[in-house]
Amino acid sequence: MATLRDTTNTSQSASELAPATLTQAISPAKTYLDRLPTEILNEIINYLPDPGDAVHLGSTCRALQREILNSNHFWWKVARDKKVHRDFLRYPYAPTVDYQRFVVRVARGEIRTTCELCFKARYGRVRKCLGERIICPDCMDERVVLAEVVERIPNFDPVASGLQSFKFLYNGFDMNASRQSGTYQNVFWLPSVIRHVKATYGLIDWKKCVGDHMPTIGPLVGARQNREYLVDILERVRSNIRAIYLAEYDAALRPLVPLDRLEAYLTGSNISTRLGKDILALELFCPAEGQTDRASSEVIERVARMGIVYLLGPRIQGQPKTIRQYDLGHLWLTVTQSLTARFLSANKRWGRCRICVNAGERGLPGQTFPRNIYNFIHHIQHAHPIYLLRLDVSLMV
Ligand SMILES: [Zn+2]
Ligand SMILES: [Zn+2]
Repeated sequence: MATLRDTTNTSQSASELAPATLTQAISPAKTYLDRLPTEILNEIINYLPDPGDAVHLGSTCRALQREILNSNHFWWKVARDKKVHRDFLRYPYAPTVDYQRFVVRVARGEIRTTCELCFKARYGRVRKCLGERIICPDCMDERVVLAEVVERIPNFDPVASGLQSFKFLYNGFDMNASRQSGTYQNVFWLPSVIRHVKATYGLIDWKKCVGDHMPTIGPLVGARQNREYLVDILERVRSNIRAIYLAEYDAALRPLVPLDRLEAYLTGSNISTRLGKDILALELFCPAEGQTDRASSEVIERVARMGIVYLLGPRIQGQPKTIRQYDLGHLWLTVTQSLTARFLSANKRWGRCRICVNAGERGLPGQTFPRNIYNFIHHIQHAHPIYLLRLDVSLMV
């Protein structure tokens, strides 16, 4: 609002006060600018650092001022530089839009953009679904709850209570979420749900309400809280995997897998995506007040054990747990790289498997001796897995 008043005041007072002598003093520039075609003038206005400069330029001459105030470019620049609406930060100048009208409407309060919950300016949108309230996407994100969750609340009919669901880009289960991802789902406005449910049960305490009547229904929290909860679970699982690995596998794998490689796999998107699916499959959700957190340390460890399998491959029956099908795990690439380097540094590139040669075997069907290192490592993994981690160049003859 201040924007328009300021600029208009400046232009009016400046032009009213501009003495004739001043105009004459800069008349060479004036006459030159005056004769420029409107498009060029628009370009000049466009490159002035501040709308105020355009107003000052306009104050040098009435004709020029008229030109400037009629310039759609000028008003676009006012709107953009004063950030009257966030859309101006995203879109380039469009000649078909009447920017002056837009700025005037914002200044008159006809276009309201200040979130009424967090008071963040310019990000609010009129929410028809919420009786024309102005609420920013972040505040929506914090206060929407899935309709299917609300519909599971016993003895409560949201429609009969006068609640209306609406479509919203919900990503309360998306652990890798930016707020723009997610899918449109039917949601309710959580504060209204809480109010109506409390009224239905005749309780004034939401926590008691939840604890007594819906201890296992959820997530009865906003999308953001649930998302952050799941991200937190994922982090707990990760550090659990780290702990298990260090305690049980690091000693055996350390010569082949440096810890920074392990860390890269742990935080990489492959593992995160797989663990994320496991966590969601357990139907974990952020507990509301009055509910118990179902992500116990046992549950976290169960998921972490799955993560170990993703990293190291499944165990081989009847063998100690460090003897595994490593070729089915994410660390396999690092394992083979380290082993290959070991052979190359000993100048071995081709050879036969000594165990098989000693046993009089000629190799597996379809395979011929000698093998290159890569095939050799695969052969050891499949035929003699107990030798894989301590694979020595002397096994190749
Ligand atoms: Zn807000
Ligand atoms: Zn062999």
